[in-house]
Amino acid sequence: NGHPVASKLLVLCTISSGGLLAYAESQSNVGSPIVDPNQNESRKKRVVVLGTGWAGTSFLKYLDASAYDVQVVSPRNYFAFTPLLPSVTCGTVEARSIVEPVRNIIKKRNGEIKFWEAECVKIDAANKNVSLRANFDQNLVGNKEFSLEYDYLVIALGAQVNTFNTPGVNENCHFLKEVEDAQKIRMSVIDCFEMAVLPGLSEEERRRNLHFVIVGGGPTGVEFAAELHDYFQEDLVKLYPMVKDLVKITVIQSGDHILNMFDDRISNFAEKKFTRDGIDVQTGCRVVSVSDKEITMKVKSKGEVCSIPHGLVVWSTGVGTRPVVRDFMQQIGQADKRVLVTDEWLRVKGCEDVYAIGDCASISQRKIMEDIFTIFKAADKDNSGTLTVDEFRDVVDDIIIRYPQVELYLKSKHLQDVTDLWKDLDGSDKKEVNVEEFKLALSQVDSQMKSLPATAQVAAQQGTYLSSCFNRREHCKEHPEGPRRFKSSGQHEFLPFRYKHFGQFAPLGGEQAAAELPGDWVSMGHSTQWLWYSVYASKQVSWRTRVLVVSDWTRRFIFGRDSSRI
Ligand code: FAD
Repeated sequence: NGHPVASKLLVLCTISSGGLLAYAESQSNVGSPIVDPNQNESRKKRVVVLGTGWAGTSFLKYLDASAYDVQVVSPRNYFAFTPLLPSVTCGTVEARSIVEPVRNIIKKRNGEIKFWEAECVKIDAANKNVSLRANFDQNLVGNKEFSLEYDYLVIALGAQVNTFNTPGVNENCHFLKEVEDAQKIRMSVIDCFEMAVLPGLSEEERRRNLHFVIVGGGPTGVEFAAELHDYFQEDLVKLYPMVKDLVKITVIQSGDHILNMFDDRISNFAEKKFTRDGIDVQTGCRVVSVSDKEITMKVKSKGEVCSIPHGLVVWSTGVGTRPVVRDFMQQIGQADKRVLVTDEWLRVKGCEDVYAIGDCASISQRKIMEDIFTIFKAADKDNSGTLTVDEFRDVVDDIIIRYPQVELYLKSKHLQDVTDLWKDLDGSDKKEVNVEEFKLALSQVDSQMKSLPATAQVAAQQGTYLSSCFNRREHCKEHPEGPRRFKSSGQHEFLPFRYKHFGQFAPLGGEQAAAELPGDWVSMGHSTQWLWYSVYASKQVSWRTRVLVVSDWTRRFIFGRDSSRI
């Protein structure tokens, strides 16, 4: 019972008898769980983690793996530093510089963590097991399918590209979600140039080949457009001088501005910079279909439909739900939701011992909204239904301290009702704020507050938070009364998850970037680009990738980008 040597032996037995041999089992055992005969005697709880992205990896990095029997599943045996994917598309950094093998990450943990390179095809919450399919098409002796049983399940499956069912997108567009996507784009860009210089083409055909279209004016689309522009200006123009006047980059955005989740100053700065650089920004346009040669869109203001020829389209319009998550949501009565809804402790609603973190999850805001209304009620001492501007400011500060994630929404320019109130407060002579009016505005934005932004920052913080809950679980069981300050009946043993926003960057090309930092701080220009370099170098998951990324940047400064098509 708990002897360290014994438990190590047990884990080794589990790997050899239940684990690796499971691959070699005969076809008759399709889907049989990897079960250790002594499992029931083991006092360690089995934790299965699905996904090795930002959320899954940060959970594993901080989990006390010696306290659990941990198994990790992912079809990719590496962690990818996604913020640098746009740089991979143009060879500014190499694909291998931004990935870290999962086995490197888990071998540093105290305890035995098992990794299975497989795809989860089904989550069965009723029987507490997950069905997996090994990620190999050939050369696999025995079973491709097996299953794992769990005591706790951590779903960190991320999201997939959202095409909004637009015809032709899957067949004719590139995506920018995975490392393979970035590598494919890199080769296709070079293909476009090589094709455009072949003899016998009309000028129209050359222009079409060299028209690069990006659908989506969010951070990823804008960064890719900027990278591509730099690549062309700094490197390709010297190699393909004969077609340099035919190259065009277009960004199509359905909203009124690009980078519209950022501060107004940043989207204006980006639009002006793109105009100066000759990048065509088409706002208020919705793409309705894509063929191999043309992209068709509807101009919202005029209701007109027009088509433009293209050589390459990159589709970057947000994220959707993965099929395995969608199937699980149907099982647990969340079919009407966009992502898995959790409570503030990241437990999937309506499910025992299942947690969801990162892009595939969203914390239910209902409790937060109730709390916000309570804060308002308490501030309105005379029950008049109005607050003075100062009282109102205190209320908003209080809300932001308790729920930092709400700040994003309170100040988001999409939320016209709320923003108008902020504008009133900032400039006008309005002396009172009608509580009902503000409550109404907030309840209207409730649906948009359903999720925190789908970013690496949120995913990583959730992974870290959840691992700290797991690490303290035993301690809390032994001391159910909790620390004195939380000691009251009905209290949860852990503080709820709180997101801390550290700001966000938008690289704009030409060694310039924009950043929105906490406290309404906006920074733009060359110095921000250097801040971007230092932040992204420091955020690398290992010293190995840090050195590789920095040396790639240096190589690019000295020799330019490599345009070989390999
Ligand atoms: P992911 O990182 O996508 O990880 C999902 C994991 O699940 C992967 O390991 C995947 O292999 C695995 N998986 C998938 N399907 C299965 C299955 N069926 N079974 C088992 N495992 C499975 N965020 C920022 O904060 N800042 C940025 O600058 C930024 N830039 C970005 C640039 C690009 C090009 C992209 C695509 C995203 C960027 N993001 C950025 C967003 C950020 O990458 C995501 O929010 C983050 O990756 C979410 O983490 P996650 O762990 O939820 O999902």
